[in-house]
Amino acid sequence: MNRVVSGFGMTSQRTRARMIERLREQGIVDEDVLAAIAAVPRHVFVEEALASRAYEDTALPLGFSQTISQPYVVAKMIEALCAGGRPLGKTLEIGAGCGYQAAVLAQLTEQVYAVERIAPLLAKAKLNLRAIKQLKVRLKHADGRLGLPEAAPFDTIIVAAAALRVPPALLQQLAAGGRMILPLGAATQQLALIEKRGEDCVETRLDAVRFVPLLTGVE
Ligand code: SAH
Repeated sequence: MNRVVSGFGMTSQRTRARMIERLREQGIVDEDVLAAIAAVPRHVFVEEALASRAYEDTALPLGFSQTISQPYVVAKMIEALCAGGRPLGKTLEIGAGCGYQAAVLAQLTEQVYAVERIAPLLAKAKLNLRAIKQLKVRLKHADGRLGLPEAAPFDTIIVAAAALRVPPALLQQLAAGGRMILPLGAATQQLALIEKRGEDCVETRLDAVRFVPLLTGVE
């Protein structure tokens, strides 16, 4: 497969700049997060037939009944993890899908781990990240509800699929002072930011969202 990373009209700086302007209008203010999103060519991560829509602020189908996250939601989640100017540090993404969000995270920190339960999607993520020469993301085929014990603890964890409650393994693998963001709920979902402070966890509720469910096991 020959993935073209630049050269299309739709990938023009102007199209991408418009997406960043829309994110600002929607309330994203963290300049580092905006720059990270501007730096990742999203069209590389979507199916070629949908490439012309890559810079619209919408979720798009990835195959396997999964979707690539909406840029606003990616920005909002990462911004919440970085609030107060804190670095992402060692970060774990659950639900790598096609690798888009992992690529954005890799713009912001050196250590990115990403777990995906559907093997062919993980293979796609690998190809996509290679196509944009992003080699520092460490990908693993596994059930992300169990976290990634071999690389724990993590300063930040970002979950791209909705659970009814916080998976205990993820809470355990969060470093002291660490932050996790995840969608909670089923038919109605809301982003929850969880901060580990000593023995306590402080939970803050943010935007209403719509994610695919966090499933069990691998395929
Ligand atoms: N982060 C992706 C979004 C992928 S959609 C992006 O940047 O666009 C959510 C992904 O979570 C799907 O690929 C789905 O297969 C995956 N997923 C669901 N449950 C999971 C689990 N228990 N472990 C790992 N991945 C999971």
